[in-house]
Amino acid sequence: MKPFKKNKKEQYSIIVGCGRLGANLANQLSAKGESVLVIDKNKEAFGKLSPSFAGATLVGDATYLDVLHDAEIEKATAVVSVTNYDNTNILIAQAAKEFGVGQVIARLYDPGRERVYREFGIDTISPAVLSMKEIDKLLGVGVDAGGRNENQS
Ligand code: AMP
Repeated sequence: MKPFKKNKKEQYSIIVGCGRLGANLANQLSAKGESVLVIDKNKEAFGKLSPSFAGATLVGDATYLDVLHDAEIEKATAVVSVTNYDNTNILIAQAAKEFGVGQVIARLYDPGRERVYREFGIDTISPAVLSMKEIDKLLGVGVDAGGRNENQS
């Protein structure tokens, strides 16, 4: 793991999954001077990080506790899990909560599972829900993410 320096506010974000979303987020946080660590099980994925990325990277499967320990998850102020698997993201988010991380966000492709995890204090983002909201803004039909028309009873 590359060494990194925490900033004055001691914000420390861990991003799991260095796909397009994870890499973009990591680049943005780094550009704002935040301490950030990105974990991915595939080291090639870090090629998506910008040359000016000043955070740290860790190769490993983040569903393993020793990887989370190496990431010093107990010091993290935020964990964002954006791997390509809902179950992986949920597992990591639940572990982050157990470690006392204040802000935990998981990507869920299945929007039907969002409410359950919100009840556990895990914020979720669902590409399907976000897309539906944007499409609805353009169409103005009043549909919800589950495909129901809000005007229906
Ligand atoms: P994308 O689907 O493009 O957002 O990429 C998701 C990323 O998550 C890929 O780079 C995967 O290698 C990574 N990934 C998937 N599962 C894990 C895991 N268990 N631990 C760490 N990274 C993972």
